[in-house]
Amino acid sequence: MAGAVFYIRVSTAEQASGNNSLPVQEKKLRDYCRREGLDVLKVFVDPGESARTTDRPKFQAMLAYCREHRRKVSHVLVADLSRLSRSVMDQGYTIAALQRLGVKVESVDEPMTGDSAVGQLTRNMIGTFNQFFSDSLSERTRYRMKAAVNAGRFPWPAPIGYLNVDKKLCADPERAPFVRQAFELMASGRFSTGDSVLKLLTSLGLTTRKGRPLTKQSFARMLSNPLYMGWIVSGDDRVLGNHDPLISEALFQNVQQRINGKACPHKKVNEDFPLRGVVQCAKCGKPLTAGWVRGRKKLYPRYWCWEEKCKAVGVSREDLEGQFVNLLSRMQPTAELLAELPERAAAHWQARKARIAVDARTLNNSLAVERTLNQKAIMAKLNGTLSDADFDSVKASITEKISGIESQIKALDCERSTMDDLLQQTQNEAVDLVGAWQKGNINQRQELATAFFPEGLVFSHERQFFEPANVVIHQMVWRFVTNEIDIGVPGGI
Ligand SMILES: [Zn+2]
Repeated sequence: MAGAVFYIRVSTAEQASGNNSLPVQEKKLRDYCRREGLDVLKVFVDPGESARTTDRPKFQAMLAYCREHRRKVSHVLVADLSRLSRSVMDQGYTIAALQRLGVKVESVDEPMTGDSAVGQLTRNMIGTFNQFFSDSLSERTRYRMKAAVNAGRFPWPAPIGYLNVDKKLCADPERAPFVRQAFELMASGRFSTGDSVLKLLTSLGLTTRKGRPLTKQSFARMLSNPLYMGWIVSGDDRVLGNHDPLISEALFQNVQQRINGKACPHKKVNEDFPLRGVVQCAKCGKPLTAGWVRGRKKLYPRYWCWEEKCKAVGVSREDLEGQFVNLLSRMQPTAELLAELPERAAAHWQARKARIAVDARTLNNSLAVERTLNQKAIMAKLNGTLSDADFDSVKASITEKISGIESQIKALDCERSTMDDLLQQTQNEAVDLVGAWQKGNINQRQELATAFFPEGLVFSHERQFFEPANVVIHQMVWRFVTNEIDIGVPGGI
């Protein structure tokens, strides 16, 4: 009594194409059985499975069935050999294993592949080609992926918070606010673990696109995915994507430090240290960092080189900024400098204006997000999915965020007018640099430092002085030195 078992398969990519669809394959096999007088014992269907491995549920079930019913099964039928496998080694192994059970593999579209010498040769050749097509396809795919990444595109399914729209990543209006909030809540330090943040967001309605709650693992992956701050990382490639980031780099880094157990002690470093990022270490050339250093009785503001192998510079804020004011005071009289001022101020004003526009948009977006979240929290509390304690915690976080954002928006508005004033001032008169520095707020001070020293300033620890790394300082130092000599040579020597 001869009976046939069908194995039918399509890959995800093949599913759309009609002449290889599951019903077409099955009809071919049934017609064959009618012609050959075979009974159909069982049909095994693997939809959306790749034949690059044998790790397919129904493929394995088919092999097990043949082992169990070896007396009944005479044939395994496939529409073509590539249904069975796209690896020539797996194909050979599968056919041999079935042969040992007395089961013959028959490819309906490839009738020349029986067990004769020519049949086996043909079978192996077809298997080799099937593997070649598969290999070259994946090679081309890899190449295409790499090209996409280099062009700033993210060629994979969008992670939570984004949607794939026309080969581009777009923010998912429903989930992007949750992603932002997840980072904000983690950075706030109100929650000891990511799990409690996940629990909270789940009760507020965060789900995957399939409507399921996020697992701890996928939430952890989300929190360490640099895609959200705009970077596409693939293997060794790190490319700035052309999608809109959901969060800032600063927020991302803050969360990474918290996840790795190194909380950031000074969130608003820039507020206290205007020369951070402007001044570089004379020995290694890296920009100095700055922060509050714990002394025996209090915290001391310092700038230092934090390059692991260097650490050549360590200087108090007072000394470094004192030297800077010194430098500014000696810059005033140069005619070249005054001539360059309007140009420098204008260039900087343009950059500033662009930054303010971006900042304002970001702030308004986050304000809208906080308000939406506020509504969601109220709804969740009313529905009873959010406990009173969690609600209070969320509410406090939201209120704090909103007032923070509002004051930042106000500060931006102030900046707008003061920069206008500064531009006027620079254009109309010789600027009192020291005065501008002393009266300026943190942003204006940073502006001033970067406007006048666009290549940065180099500070030497041994000399406790800025090195003559750019022309302006070089000229000034030269004048300073010659003055010193004039003044400093006593008559007697
Ligand atoms: Zn250094």
